[in-house]
Amino acid sequence: MPIPKAELHLHIEGTLEPELAFALAARNGVELPYADTEELRKAYLFEDLQTFLNLYYELMAVLRTERDFEDLANAYLARAAAQGVRHAEIFFDPQAHIARGVDMGTVVEGLWRALGSSETNHGISTRLILCFLRDESAESALETLDAAKPYLDRITGIGLDSAEVGHPPVKFREVYEAAAALGLRRVAHAGEEGPPAYITEALDILGVERVDHGLRCMEDEELVARLVRDRIPLTLCPLSNVRLRAVDVLAEHPLPAMLDAGLLCTVNSDDPAYFGGYAGDNFDAVREALGLTEERLRELARNSFVASFLEDDEDRRARYLAEVEAYVF
Ligand SMILES: [Zn+2]
Repeated sequence: MPIPKAELHLHIEGTLEPELAFALAARNGVELPYADTEELRKAYLFEDLQTFLNLYYELMAVLRTERDFEDLANAYLARAAAQGVRHAEIFFDPQAHIARGVDMGTVVEGLWRALGSSETNHGISTRLILCFLRDESAESALETLDAAKPYLDRITGIGLDSAEVGHPPVKFREVYEAAAALGLRRVAHAGEEGPPAYITEALDILGVERVDHGLRCMEDEELVARLVRDRIPLTLCPLSNVRLRAVDVLAEHPLPAMLDAGLLCTVNSDDPAYFGGYAGDNFDAVREALGLTEERLRELARNSFVASFLEDDEDRRARYLAEVEAYVF
């Protein structure tokens, strides 16, 4: 069994495998512009962010009903469980669905059908994090938060994702303030393709408690010192970084330098159906390409639970951490 871990950076829409895409398309009478799963799998071999995003949004057309979102989440949870994931904090992108005429309730209740019974069915505890698309307007984000208000008992926090450059965190100041007032936890993608200044802004202006990616903090020594001092977790996604060209090859990933600097790093899968692997695959890949020791891998697993939003269930966190310490490689 792989080492127990929490997954903190996972877009549920990014777990849509070609087989499920075709099954849902057939169920909903949606025409996909691919002959079969093999041809679709070839389309997954995109070369850059824009090609990926085009495909990502195109395939969402197959997600129509609560049952579709339930099936999507259950497929992810089954794969994650097999890779040692014990706790998952799952992102979803409601704006991408609302724009297609699928309302907030369908998305949240559909996901919840799987998440609500995930402990029994998959042995994974879960949290749900609503992400705003940063290339949409600040007004749209506020409307989306408003639409989520009836479902806040299902939602732990908010995040910010999609194309980063040109959409600095400050654009979303108001919606983050409103979310904080509602008691929601706050994270944001920053410093993936955007500059280190976006990380600083996300901390100072949006009040984020965790930074998604954050890779480019390494270009700013003062920022690194601050992240270390304040124990701000970073949710790194190594295979995603290679596929989206944030790093050229995995062997050049800054993860070892980041750990050496004392940063609280975690390893996650981002959009695993598209980026070549789930959480355990990412652990295996960095172990191999970067020569990480077993103690480094244990540190990454430990960090994932330390960084998770389990403040409302510290007994569970302690149990998970004990599993990590007891794990024999
Ligand atoms: Zn992401």
